[in-house]
Amino acid sequence: MAKIGFIGLGNMGGPMLANLVKAGHEVTAFDLDSLALKRAVDAGAKAASAAGDTAAGAEVVVTMLPAGRHVRSVYTDPEGVIEQADLGTLFIDCSTIDVATAREVADAASEAGQEMVDAPVSGGVAAAAGAALTFMVGGSDIAFARAEPILQAMGKAVIHAGANGAGQAAKICNNMLLGISMIGVCEAFNLADALGLDRQKLFDISSKASGQCWSLTSYCPVPGPLPTSRANHGYTPGFAAKMMLKDLVLSQEAAATGGANTPLGALARQIYQEMCDSPLGELDFSGVIKYLRGEAE
Ligand code: NAD
Repeated sequence: MAKIGFIGLGNMGGPMLANLVKAGHEVTAFDLDSLALKRAVDAGAKAASAAGDTAAGAEVVVTMLPAGRHVRSVYTDPEGVIEQADLGTLFIDCSTIDVATAREVADAASEAGQEMVDAPVSGGVAAAAGAALTFMVGGSDIAFARAEPILQAMGKAVIHAGANGAGQAAKICNNMLLGISMIGVCEAFNLADALGLDRQKLFDISSKASGQCWSLTSYCPVPGPLPTSRANHGYTPGFAAKMMLKDLVLSQEAAATGGANTPLGALARQIYQEMCDSPLGELDFSGVIKYLRGEAE
């Protein structure tokens, strides 16, 4: 079992830490929010008084932070993780951030003689609580081999995507596809309504026809066909529209930098931006069906 430092104990990090403790790891935690830190202590972790302090004596440091700037600061600030860690510590960043920052922080770690992987997740708060996340990992073969057993304690699948940054690249490609496909499924249901086609019939047919996709069969955006979908629970998140917008913005920044042509990704970003600026902005991302129906007014 490993000595682990854990920084970022929010909706995702809190339950992920609890699963590391359950697996028998010795975890020292930090969050700027004292309530989040208290919850981690209640789950069996030791509290540190600063982010960098979690790294002292740790074999592994895991971070689960909101955005790239937080990740950069926690690792590279004076008295941050890179400075405080003993040589041979493995850094695992599970946050969803831009590819450029992921590579930049991994380079800073490498210059200090340390190994780092980016390991963003697919799956929300329920998957974090149930140790059922999917991790997409970017880093060297050696770093991946070291990270894998740690990540397995928090997830159901751990996939090596390539070199540093490849985990973040996989995450934003997947979520751009998800944003586009969710809007597509919503448009199909709206058209079915307009044509007088029963929603359940569209679900039954498209689930077995060429329109089949995850947004339809696992996350159906209309009430009825799937009892577990957020549509049957007032479109409360789930995976919030704001989170989808964050990932679509990252995808479009990456597309601009990399020169990829992603017109539907750009349109999906615009649609989710408008939804998030509207009174529907707190809903689950499948609530975009209400935005498309003009219910934002
Ligand atoms: P959150 O806002 O609930 O938690 C982030 C935590 O980081 C907060 O507790 C905050 O206080 C802490 N923090 C911020 N700056 C810090 C610093 N400098 N030092 C210490 N702590 C600091 O966010 P979340 O929902 O847990 O998401 C975390 C990451 O996971 C994000 O990158 C998000 O995009 C990604 N993600 C979230 C979901 C989801 O469904 N919530 C799903 C997949 C991926």
